[in-house]
Amino acid sequence: MELMNKTAAELSTLLASKEISAVELAKAALARTEAVDSQVGAYITTAGDAALAAAETIDKRRAAGDALPPLAGIPVAIKDNICTEGLLTTCASRMLYNFVPPYNATVMEKLAAQGAVITGKCNMDEFAMGSSCENSAMKITHNPHNLGCVPGGSSGGSAAVVASGQAPLSLGSDTGGSIRQPAAFCGVVGLKPTYGAVSRYGLIAFASSLDQIGPFARTVEDAAMLMDAVTGYDPAHDSTSAPAPFEGSLRKNLSPDMKGVRIGLPKEYFGAGISDEVRESVLAAAETYKSLGAEVSEISLPLVEYALPVYYILSSAEASSNLARFDGVKYGFRAEGCEELLDIYVKSRSQGFGPEVQRRIMLGTYVLSSGYYDAYYKKARAAQRKIREEFAGAFEKCDVILTPVAPTTAYELGSRTADPLEMYAGDICTVSVNIAGLPALVQPCGFDGGKLPIGMQLIGPRFGEQKLLNAGLAFEQASGLKNIIAAL
Ligand code: GLN
Repeated sequence: MELMNKTAAELSTLLASKEISAVELAKAALARTEAVDSQVGAYITTAGDAALAAAETIDKRRAAGDALPPLAGIPVAIKDNICTEGLLTTCASRMLYNFVPPYNATVMEKLAAQGAVITGKCNMDEFAMGSSCENSAMKITHNPHNLGCVPGGSSGGSAAVVASGQAPLSLGSDTGGSIRQPAAFCGVVGLKPTYGAVSRYGLIAFASSLDQIGPFARTVEDAAMLMDAVTGYDPAHDSTSAPAPFEGSLRKNLSPDMKGVRIGLPKEYFGAGISDEVRESVLAAAETYKSLGAEVSEISLPLVEYALPVYYILSSAEASSNLARFDGVKYGFRAEGCEELLDIYVKSRSQGFGPEVQRRIMLGTYVLSSGYYDAYYKKARAAQRKIREEFAGAFEKCDVILTPVAPTTAYELGSRTADPLEMYAGDICTVSVNIAGLPALVQPCGFDGGKLPIGMQLIGPRFGEQKLLNAGLAFEQASGLKNIIAAL
């Protein structure tokens, strides 16, 4: 039986009925990685032996008659900025080239409790700063649908691993689009949860007020399944986490009924700068929703104009503070030949961090420095409040908002690395969601002329994950666009 083409839900059923074993499935996942990852480059670290051992434990427990949770025995890959006890966690940075965490992130404890089989750690932009995975200090990840193109970023490895059939599920993190944009580029489903729904404990911080961990999958149901496993209030470890009303029940409550559901199309997201193919594909999805009984109407979110500067000011400010801990003393990389303490700091940080990370630290330090704080940081916070209010107003008129994910589909490797501002501009459709702390679901809605996937984004109100997944499921069923695996 070809196992890696199956969804996590199908595999879960096969495991529960003992038609397949967890070891058999883990072996299939490792074999697929062996066959394709030299081309894709999704993993920084594979954890084959540990995966087989974990799978064996699950098989023994199942044989002993234990009632196991749905993810027991399912292979899951993890972005390399999520701390995994005893397993190398580099954040794709030279700074953490040898960091083996002494503890697990909360999400890893939750996956362990579920019996998920961890297959390895996925490539990303260094410290999650980037949109193409090209800022990784470790390797290049290729888009499985066209190896000459980027997989998106920063969670490009987590998207590519699922799109190339190496694992049915993975975890990524999203500060300004890092789950959603690679999901769109790779033709998979990605969910950025409401801020606080998933614990950030053990997620190596980029911008703490924006970061969220979330699932990648090839179907909406599978995304719900993984989201159910990782959701949870974590007051002991993450004071910004919050009890989510849907905790653990998203998959159970999936319902594709779109009758009377109000969908808003913000006109600012469909204007100049968005490629014709992307615009047409997302607007066609809106037509599909109409045919399913939804009420689609145009809305306006004019403050999106300020989203990019607000995001790059706030996220860089927080990054400059969060990354101060990497000083060559406490973690990872230390430069050679240092004379005194300041020398250790300067040389280790100059050599340990790549150019994009250094750019963000400098930008963040600048906007927080006295004299500029009021002009930039304070203004960005004020604009953030306005953006939040604008979304709150929109959700009085509609249940979900439908937009493109990125202005274009995946582009050629190397084509945007020369100009950081051009790279930042690609984040225009995603960053507002983080600024407002909202959930958003991305899934495939078509293909461009070059057969690269096009994604659409559904944005919901705070803790509106169920609404998003329901709408996502409705579209998936109507369009048949699901479980897309790149031919490799
Ligand atoms: N592309 C955005 C950035 O470079 C978002 C990154 C993210 O969500 N981690 O900051």
